Amino acid sequence: MSTEKIPYKIYLEESEMPKAWYNLRADMKNKPAPLLNPATHEPMKAEELAGVFCEELIKQELDDTTPYFDIPEDIRNFYKMYRPSPLVRAYCLEEKLQTPAKIYYKFEGNNTSGSHKLNSAIAQAYYAKKQGLKGVTTETGAGQWGTALSMACSYFGLDCKVYMVKVSYEQKPFRREVMRTYGASVTPSPSTETQVGRKILEEHPGTTGSLGCAISEAVEKATTTEGYRYVLGSVLNQVLLHQSVIGLETKTALDKYGIKPDIIIGCAGGGSNLGGLIAPFMGEKLRGEADYRIIAVEPASCPSFTRGKYAYDFCDTGMVCPLAKMYTLGSGFIPAPNHAGGLRYHGMSSTLSQLYADGLMEATSVPQTAVFEAAEQFARVEGILPAPESAHAIKVAIDEAMRCKETGEEKTIVFGLTGTGYFDMVAYEKFHDGKMEDYIPTDEELQASFDKLPKMD
Ligand SMILES: *Cc1c(COP(=O)(O)O)cnc(C)c1O
Repeated sequence: MSTEKIPYKIYLEESEMPKAWYNLRADMKNKPAPLLNPATHEPMKAEELAGVFCEELIKQELDDTTPYFDIPEDIRNFYKMYRPSPLVRAYCLEEKLQTPAKIYYKFEGNNTSGSHKLNSAIAQAYYAKKQGLKGVTTETGAGQWGTALSMACSYFGLDCKVYMVKVSYEQKPFRREVMRTYGASVTPSPSTETQVGRKILEEHPGTTGSLGCAISEAVEKATTTEGYRYVLGSVLNQVLLHQSVIGLETKTALDKYGIKPDIIIGCAGGGSNLGGLIAPFMGEKLRGEADYRIIAVEPASCPSFTRGKYAYDFCDTGMVCPLAKMYTLGSGFIPAPNHAGGLRYHGMSSTLSQLYADGLMEATSVPQTAVFEAAEQFARVEGILPAPESAHAIKVAIDEAMRCKETGEEKTIVFGLTGTGYFDMVAYEKFHDGKMEDYIPTDEELQASFDKLPKMD
């Protein structure tokens, strides 16, 4: 089909929106390793998780065999407020780069929370409400997840208690106010409100916090407060399931025009947007129906895939959560306060970890200043101010497009543009003022963290 016929933005009709989420695990021969009870090292049973998570979400978490889960109508209606998200042909960027590559991006920043996180937040809030809970607790790094969850909770009339990583709380006061606008209460983490927070503060005085710390606090709060459960915005299988809506829409849009991607690229923090974007494509790959190059992009300052160990580890710094087998830098690893807060998690989705271990996807890491150069280049031609997290994917998409320019190959590249960067102007300011640092952990630092991985036998 000639390129002239492909519009700048491929939208779907409401009737073309997915009616079920796709569970990638159903097609995996090697299933992701189960969550383990940290005391017994036995797989976590649904009953054991029930004090922490909502019942329906536990079912989704533990189900490795059901390929499709119907999206409840209330959630589909909420999705219709801001979805389908556009799949954009980056004609202007292609022109600027003078590349023969065809570049597409799936833009998830068209909602107030500014990222893809709302796709799972609304699902998790729905199941919490359905279970008759009063409220939920959570952590937020950069603030996108907390904002998304605040929106979802206010929609269903649930309380929302957010522990926000301290460095972000200070860097992004406006994010905090958006959350409060939606009725959430927001506490900087580590805090003195929880036992685990007090312990972390004693051990690391002056720490700027991490997602791992904030998770521990949110879990403690949920398990010690009547009628509350804990919800998580990434990493978990259930979150990847909800985020499959991104990939399903992308696939439908591409199929409409007979487009087959060669390379699919996404940034990876805990792996949810990438897991969601690639889901139907990886499904085809697993079933032997098609092949794609799939690339995860992570910050050089927090390189879970590229320099981490594939091992059982705690999901949180306070070591209160179950053990997950994943590429990890160690639950005690507190990354340098870089400006892609959403990518500062020490571990990685166990589903993506298994796929990576099986050689079904690639990973690469990029330093922060290169990411902001790509972000600025993209903003100037495509008109969207990207989130620093998203700009990791932009950077590698541009690199791949430039490689096509050298070789003359007309590859089709699809990447996930997960969100907007309006709350990241402190980071952009540092970049513009030449004050941005590319902090990369040393092997010794990583080894010190690996030495503290739980001993499994
Ligand atoms: C949270 C976030 C990410 C990273 O999280 P994943 O679970 O790896 O997708 C990426 N981009 C944006 C804009 C985010 O808010």
